[in-house]
Amino acid sequence: MRVSIKNWLTDLLREVKLDNNANSKPLMHFQLAMFKRVVVCVSLCILLLIGYFTSTQTITTVISLCIGLVLFIGCYLLAKHKDTKLGTSAFLITATVMTCYFMWRYEGLFDEAVLAFPGFLIFAVLISSVRLAIGLFVFVAINMLCIGLVNEYGLHTHAVGVSNLNSAIVLIIILLMVTLSVYLAAVSIHKLLAELGSENYKVKQSKKEIIRLQNHDPLTGLPNRVLAQSLFADRIKIGAREGFETSLLFVDLDNFKTVNDTYGHAAGDEVLKCVAKRLSRSLRETDAAFRLGGDEFVVLAMHEHNTSKPNHSALAEKLLNVISQPISLENHQVVLTVSIGISIAPRDASNFSQLYQKADLAMYATKEAGRNSYHYFTESMNSDSSRQLTILQALRRALANDEFKLHFQSTQNMKTGEICSAEALLRWEHPELGSIGPAEFIPIAEQSGNIEAIGNWVLDEAVKACKHWHKMGFSGLRVAVNVSAIQFNRGNFVEKVKRALDKHQLEGKFLVLELTESMLFDMQNKLHDNIAAITNLNVKLALDDFGTGFSNLAYLHKSRIDILKIDRSFVSQIEQSSEDLAIVETIIAMAKNLNMEVIAEGVESDTIANSLCAMNCQLGQGFLWSKALNNEDFIKLLSRNNNE
Ligand code: C2E
Ligand code: CA
Ligand code: CA
Repeated sequence: MRVSIKNWLTDLLREVKLDNNANSKPLMHFQLAMFKRVVVCVSLCILLLIGYFTSTQTITTVISLCIGLVLFIGCYLLAKHKDTKLGTSAFLITATVMTCYFMWRYEGLFDEAVLAFPGFLIFAVLISSVRLAIGLFVFVAINMLCIGLVNEYGLHTHAVGVSNLNSAIVLIIILLMVTLSVYLAAVSIHKLLAELGSENYKVKQSKKEIIRLQNHDPLTGLPNRVLAQSLFADRIKIGAREGFETSLLFVDLDNFKTVNDTYGHAAGDEVLKCVAKRLSRSLRETDAAFRLGGDEFVVLAMHEHNTSKPNHSALAEKLLNVISQPISLENHQVVLTVSIGISIAPRDASNFSQLYQKADLAMYATKEAGRNSYHYFTESMNSDSSRQLTILQALRRALANDEFKLHFQSTQNMKTGEICSAEALLRWEHPELGSIGPAEFIPIAEQSGNIEAIGNWVLDEAVKACKHWHKMGFSGLRVAVNVSAIQFNRGNFVEKVKRALDKHQLEGKFLVLELTESMLFDMQNKLHDNIAAITNLNVKLALDDFGTGFSNLAYLHKSRIDILKIDRSFVSQIEQSSEDLAIVETIIAMAKNLNMEVIAEGVESDTIANSLCAMNCQLGQGFLWSKALNNEDFIKLLSRNNNE
């Protein structure tokens, strides 16, 4: 018994505590609405009583009721405009005190007013607090005890009236007030519960949607890597128990970028959705397709274990076939193929990421073999072309893993020695392979479609660094960025340049884009549009490695190139080869005539620098002055050199 009372008290106190904290807006709103109904109902009953008593009772009773009515309305206004809790408490206290007053004044413990107390206690709990309800109860109980005592000891005698029509009417009005108020309060509670129920439903639905979005690709609706991993974990367990093997098919679209470039991103999205649908429709119930990003899909399929020959080819062939059916876009039809790589668990790996990597290697083997086919993973793939493949795989994550750094190599005015520009050169520090040179990874990035993202990063970093140099006082310094043909050819390249300049608030004239000669040949049409747009931004164009390609004067003139960079293979030979010397001399003279700046690349010695100066070549770049340095060291070089 002691335990249960203790529990009850603890619960009550907890409730009281909760009650105190319960000052959230919706609750306040609900309490105020309920309070309004209670006040209206009580006021109506008091008006009825006033009307009735005006003919039957003394004037003081009517005046007391009128005062009570005014006070109630005051409490309501207080609750509405100032403090809900204070207003409701004041109302309940006023009502209780008034009722006690009537008990003392009229028939004591047998007065009809006593009937109103249960109603007040219920409202106290509903619209105010448990603490107030307890307080009111104690107050009423003390009053009742006092009335009992004064009557017991004859200090005052409360005369009990007879049960007549008068008392019946008063009782009915009070009962009506209590019943109506409780009814209205119950209606409010039902409404609140219904609202809460619907809110709760909405919250549950949103939670479901959030979970769905976390685990699904929003574009195609296919599950993503998270679900692929968890399904794979289940499959591997079932497979071990029931003798099944699970194949992972890495499905990569061939030339998807061309679709994006030719028809735009909206068309690209349609293609991805269509491929997702076709993949899902081609699978059995036990198999599943996932989109892991970009144009990469993964299929997990279960097969009976077959030691003699891998039996996953049928599925791969089916996928090759369904996907190569023409896809209808708004105004065109496209035909796409896929390259598939297959790895099998547990034979190749029992862990999702290893299995995925092996399927990826197999997929690249398919790409190398001419696409639109499939290959199984073999151990030889791991070692064979492994460096190139490893670089390929690592490239995808290098940006996200922050493995790239931008270094800067100075270009100086050979007469004054002043640094007037810097070429941004990309550096990649791979955690396992060590430092990999751009000459090795840029072509791979170009082939695999990673160059755009990398190029955009370089552009942004270079513009940022240049702005930083200006802020440090080296205003006038230019930054040169190497642009790959694929990057330049993308529809939104100029937009990217503009965005980088705007973002870092650098004027276009401080940015140089280095193009190669082959680019001038490869994309004549696009080139002219892009060059015109770039010139409008005031950005300068340089022709890199000049002399190694097939540029002719007409091209150069038309292409609005501002700067020629003489390839280092000529520059380094001017002392030994009279032919190279003649070429360099001619290039310099030609550039002067076309009003272009000339930069000699790969200057490694003073004698070469002096010869170039004598030929009227003003700008030079090379190890004689500095190799490419990280930004910090480059700034030190600037401070030493340009402040002298
Ligand atoms: P590049 O544009 O001709 O860059 C100049 C290359 O010559 C750099 O090699 C530089 O370190 C090297 N070099 C500079 N002065 C001398 C010298 O006096 N002697 C010798 N022997 N070499 C010198 P790096 O950094 O290895 O870059 C190689 C190529 O990679 C670059 O040739 C450029 O075509 C490409 N590349 C570098 N960064 C990027 C980039 O951000 N985007 C793109 N698309 N290509 C880049
Ligand atoms: Ca360059
Ligand atoms: Ca060059």
